[in-house]
Amino acid sequence: MGWQDELRKNITTVEELSRYLDIARREKRCLEEVVARHPMNITRYYLSLVNKDDPEDPIRRMAVPSVDELDLSGFYDTSGELANVKVSGLQHKYTQTALVLATNRCPVYCRFCFRKRLVGLPTKEVARRFRDVVDYVKSHEEITNVLISGGDPLILPTKLLEGFLKELSTVNHLRYVRIGSRVLATFPQRILDDPALVEVFERFSHGGKKVYVVTHFNHSRELTQEAKEAVAKLFKAGVVVYNQAVLLKGVNDNPDTLASLMRGLVSMGVVPYYLFQCRPVKRVKKRFQVALEEGYWTVEEAKRRLDGLAKKFRYVMSHRTGKVEIVGIHGDHIYFKYHQAADPYDTGLFFRRRLREGAGWLDDLDDIIQRRLGRSTSQTPPIPCVG
Ligand code: SF4
Repeated sequence: MGWQDELRKNITTVEELSRYLDIARREKRCLEEVVARHPMNITRYYLSLVNKDDPEDPIRRMAVPSVDELDLSGFYDTSGELANVKVSGLQHKYTQTALVLATNRCPVYCRFCFRKRLVGLPTKEVARRFRDVVDYVKSHEEITNVLISGGDPLILPTKLLEGFLKELSTVNHLRYVRIGSRVLATFPQRILDDPALVEVFERFSHGGKKVYVVTHFNHSRELTQEAKEAVAKLFKAGVVVYNQAVLLKGVNDNPDTLASLMRGLVSMGVVPYYLFQCRPVKRVKKRFQVALEEGYWTVEEAKRRLDGLAKKFRYVMSHRTGKVEIVGIHGDHIYFKYHQAADPYDTGLFFRRRLREGAGWLDDLDDIIQRRLGRSTSQTPPIPCVG
């Protein structure tokens, strides 16, 4: 049986889910309301990782809908993605990187997803014609890499991915291609059961553009034997594998869990790359977002338990103005630095905000006290207004 047949057996209704997990009748009605708005999709594999006796099990929290999703605080496009769309399905926010939304589907619809506005739903945001995407990249020589994202791009048929990679490999100024995918955590069978996909990666990594797969493991219990085998296949094909995680309440928001995830990743040869602050997305914020102050100390405490490679990741916030690293807390201030900025002029900008209890996003913080620190040359530009 192929990987596509396996996906057809996904759990997509509350009724079906209640055959596997204890769900009270009243809760069922609420969950049906949630699922009518944001669909549920869980692979049998991922469900098998859930501890059925624990209603607060971290794997369960990530995949199973909750009544908390009826909470509408927050907003849907927290990183200002729509403002950066250049052609259908392509965003160009940071000078060197083109981001392609290749699909709106995923093997599992994670309940914390920041693209909740489009996953599993009708949308005009995904690429309609890869030809247009390639033409845009070709005409922008400043672009050094393309990040293929979604949804989960590895849910696409291998032939289609191959065609897209082939087109991209003809663009001279492109150095590498990144594929952001959570299949290694939620459905490693996609890699294990399709040797053709691994061959495609091998061909492009060696003869075309270097392929990076950016995985998305959030908890060490996702680092199963199957996941390890799938990662090993990617390595064998010459793919470089990095991991991006999200700091999630009730999932990995304690130092031991976080440290165990990072340790597990480096043991597999996967480099921890970013730890994202959970965005204030509607139906996500209440259930999953950890306050910045708490998040910062959790991360620092985790880092104390880790060696240099395992703590290589940066704790960042993907804000509409740029990728903001959360670098420190001192006194009643929290310090940030633009790792990437929508306005290239701001890249490297170091600034601070007064701490505010419960603040989970840059916009929640007082913006009166902010100062450019660290640049002292005569070329230092004037202090920009951030936020
Ligand atoms: S796999 Fe990624 S894009 Fe898909 S639902 Fe999960 S977090 Fe969102």
